[in-house]
Amino acid sequence: MFESVLIANRGEIALRIQRACKALGLRTVVVHSEADAEAGYVRLADQSLCIGPAAAGRSYLDQAAILFAAEVSGAEAIHPGYGFLSENAGFVQRVEEAGLTFIGPSSACIRTMGDKVSAKRAMRAAGVPCVPGPDEALPEDAGAVLAIAREIGFPVIVKAAGGGGGRGMRVVESAEALPGALALTREEARRAFANPEVYIEKFLAHPRHVEIQVLADAHGQALWLGSRDCSLQRRHQKVIEEAPAPGIAPEAIAAIGARCAEACRRIGYCGVGTFEFLYEDGALHFIEMNTRLQVEHPVTEMTSGIDIVQQQIRVARGERLAFTQADVSCGGHAFECRINAEDPRTFAPSPGVITVWQVPAGDGVRVDSHAEAGYRVPPHYDSMIAKLIAHGRTREEALARMRGALETMRVEGIATNLPLHRRLLQDAAFAAGGVDIHHLERWLRQPAA
Ligand code: ADP
Repeated sequence: MFESVLIANRGEIALRIQRACKALGLRTVVVHSEADAEAGYVRLADQSLCIGPAAAGRSYLDQAAILFAAEVSGAEAIHPGYGFLSENAGFVQRVEEAGLTFIGPSSACIRTMGDKVSAKRAMRAAGVPCVPGPDEALPEDAGAVLAIAREIGFPVIVKAAGGGGGRGMRVVESAEALPGALALTREEARRAFANPEVYIEKFLAHPRHVEIQVLADAHGQALWLGSRDCSLQRRHQKVIEEAPAPGIAPEAIAAIGARCAEACRRIGYCGVGTFEFLYEDGALHFIEMNTRLQVEHPVTEMTSGIDIVQQQIRVARGERLAFTQADVSCGGHAFECRINAEDPRTFAPSPGVITVWQVPAGDGVRVDSHAEAGYRVPPHYDSMIAKLIAHGRTREEALARMRGALETMRVEGIATNLPLHRRLLQDAAFAAGGVDIHHLERWLRQPAA
């Protein structure tokens, strides 16, 4: 059982993890780059260590620097947050070999589920429906690939088995376009993901993005904590998320949730995770698993009343889950708006000093953020500076609370996407619920938007 945690991340999630550690009475060690030296959450830590310059490759992605920081600080566990090294099986293996606890699944589980092809295979074996297409990497032979694509039926999507962050994917409309798309994706896969394998599946034309949160301990107990809908995306980046996914029969979600929990038990999964699905024409199709904490975990916390980060740390400490599936009851509805430092029209990043920072409060409103007045948003990282979360007894009440919260939030000194969120919350289709993953980009192309 560890008593100290090194937080190998930055920004809002570094603060969120630190809060959970403090609530559990654990000592916190925060590592940071030179660009984050002045951040408030760094000062809050029991110990902080600078691990390198601003560039993530030389700090937050520098495995040796992070392991060395753990050694000199005496930290016994490492929490990776999301992004950066959170799904890097090689890093997790080094953490394990150093005799430290990785707060997340084993490197073996990350390898299985991090490879989208083997994840699909594992899910099919557990009885989870997947997007049509073989759960095997494509052969080299062009004729064989074409035969597979024809059998699935165009349009298909070519995906890198090791891809992530919305990269390493190409939609292919016809047989003529297949060789080119294949070559490009293979090349990208080799360069960007160090895994040349690619696969294909049916390209669904108008799906929703629906996901299931899971939580599993090291003693064979695995639970699912309800659904989320993250269909509001721009360039595969989520903008607003909600829990539960609206308009889907609770029985259908429960059936899939039970399968996800079963899949966790089968592969010996320990920690938190998310099974991502595309939902089209009344059916859910598995696309991938994220073997880490998600940005959007708060909407599930608000509806389930479960502190997901604390539970994640507890199961990493070897504790048994103190509740069963029957104890999990999700109530009401929650939304999360990702507040980014970016121009609301051009989406260009807008780093700089925040001069005014006024965040909303009140019933059902939560703000997860490391920012404050005087904080300088560095230009080197993701532009998200806050997550605004609103919960209500009904979807309508949650929407009304989110509208009110967005009205009262004020950020000056830098541009933010707050105006975009305010307008989006007035969109009738979004308010009705159940828009597909292309809705936001369609909406943005309208002259009025
Ligand atoms: P990543 O790991 O990069 O996030 P995913 O496999 O989760 O990749 O896919 C990201 C997004 O790409 C999905 O949310 C969806 O918008 C789109 N997408 C992926 N696979 C398909 C598919 N078979 N049909 C239609 N859209 C897809």
